[in-house]
Amino acid sequence: MNDVKKETYKDPVKKVYACCPFCSATLLQAECVINGVTKCEQCHQRVRIEIENGIVHVAPYSSPPNKK
Ligand SMILES: [Zn+2]
Repeated sequence: MNDVKKETYKDPVKKVYACCPFCSATLLQAECVINGVTKCEQCHQRVRIEIENGIVHVAPYSSPPNKK
């Protein structure tokens, strides 16, 4: 186990917005770190969202080519 000292950011809470890379619709608004996949309500594409320290990364989420 690493006993790494975590830096606490005392900045005021920043709200970030994640936008759909396909249609630019706003997908969500968040205040903290989120890693997940959401579905755009507008174009119904799945989008992967990662929010880290106020920086938003969005990328098209392609599911692995597994057939059910
Ligand atoms: Zn979209």
